Amino acid sequence: MVPQLTCYGGVGEIGGNKFLIEDSGTKVMLDFGTGFSEGSEYFDSYISPRAVNGAGDLFEFGLLPQVRGLYSEKALQNTGLKYGAPEVDAIVLSHYHSDHTGRISFVDPKIPVYCGETTSLIHDAYSASSDSPLNGHELRKFRTGDKFRIGKLEFEPVHVDHSIPGAYGFVVHSSEGALAYTGDFRFHGPAGKMTEDFVEAVSRAKPAVLLTEGTRVRKGDQNSNTSESSVMAEAKRTVKGTKKLVFSTFRGNDVDRVNTFHRAAQAAGRRLVVSMKTAMLLEKLASDPRLSVPRIGKDVDVYVRRKRTGTLDDADYRPWERSFLDHGVSASDIRENQGEVFLHLEAWNFPELIDIRPDRGGTYIHAATEAFNEEGEREEQVVRNWIDHLGFRYLQIHASGHAPMDQVARVVNSSRAAAVVPIHTEHPGLFSGFRRKSSWKLRVPRKGTPISLGQR
Ligand SMILES: [Zn+2]
Repeated sequence: MVPQLTCYGGVGEIGGNKFLIEDSGTKVMLDFGTGFSEGSEYFDSYISPRAVNGAGDLFEFGLLPQVRGLYSEKALQNTGLKYGAPEVDAIVLSHYHSDHTGRISFVDPKIPVYCGETTSLIHDAYSASSDSPLNGHELRKFRTGDKFRIGKLEFEPVHVDHSIPGAYGFVVHSSEGALAYTGDFRFHGPAGKMTEDFVEAVSRAKPAVLLTEGTRVRKGDQNSNTSESSVMAEAKRTVKGTKKLVFSTFRGNDVDRVNTFHRAAQAAGRRLVVSMKTAMLLEKLASDPRLSVPRIGKDVDVYVRRKRTGTLDDADYRPWERSFLDHGVSASDIRENQGEVFLHLEAWNFPELIDIRPDRGGTYIHAATEAFNEEGEREEQVVRNWIDHLGFRYLQIHASGHAPMDQVARVVNSSRAAAVVPIHTEHPGLFSGFRRKSSWKLRVPRKGTPISLGQR
């Protein structure tokens, strides 16, 4: 059999990456994530798939592929797909974002997951504080420079810069041509050089197929290419310019952003205060010698939510939370020290502001992507209403986790790939405008239709 690639997700959509590579009996799934707007025609905040029905409600609408020997017995118990011994040899993971990992919770735990060492630390942190989709799977860890073989396929992971630590692209050598997979990448973060290393490895391999993300490939990309270092400069200016409370919503697992805001706070003589979930993550990542993260207690403090009316009581907190109570900062601590704090507050924790009761005139930093659909716009309006209610200033300061269109084009043209398969993009057709002197073929993927990795 000629080695082949089948895209089961990330096709004409951002997120939901699911790519099966097959080579004479070897089957490996590259990522197995949840799409951001996947199933939004059938499910919304009121109607959701029933957890008790396993994969059944998702199969109904074609939201999960019916691949044999992939799912757990529990996931299949109410479906037409019969449970059998694993036929898929492994899942290979690019990074720990839910659009790459989310559906692994349906996968047979007998199937091992290959992931970066940093990803396994992130998993440890989340499985302690909440659920992780990798729970129950054997994790086989790699780092850049390693090579590992799964049956007929040899994997060469190479680090890339992205908005979560431990992100990888891969060169996969099959019994015929090679396949390169970018995962998610950018060049404008603190570790942009890592993405250059990946681009070099791809062009050395001269792949038959380049599977590349194109999140920001669209006409009129509004996010001019703000870098993480310009986010730092703007945040420093903002924090230095006020004596009132500054708080921000951002993804706690974007460790570059945690570092950026930690430094901005420090430069203005303030303390960064993070959520408990982020504190747990930082504590786990502190053991990674290749990462620099702020230390709990030494560099950053932890916001402690009151669990019931009255005083804070250890017994109200789960065991993993209790260790942070020593470095805990309460709503009243923040109210009394508004000019000395930079508070990380996720949107779902906004009601805490009712207890904090900050003085009017403070600053809110929205450090996330602008809304790209109606639901996002509604959520953003709710945030704006809170900020107006507090009498705060609303500022957007953000750098994307993804490369802008011209840099995706550069990656494609320097890849020396025979065929380019655009994934994780809503506009795969726009890739045809990227071709310069190079002679690659554009293969717009179709869900479930195999693409050959055979020799040209
Ligand atoms: Zn990502």
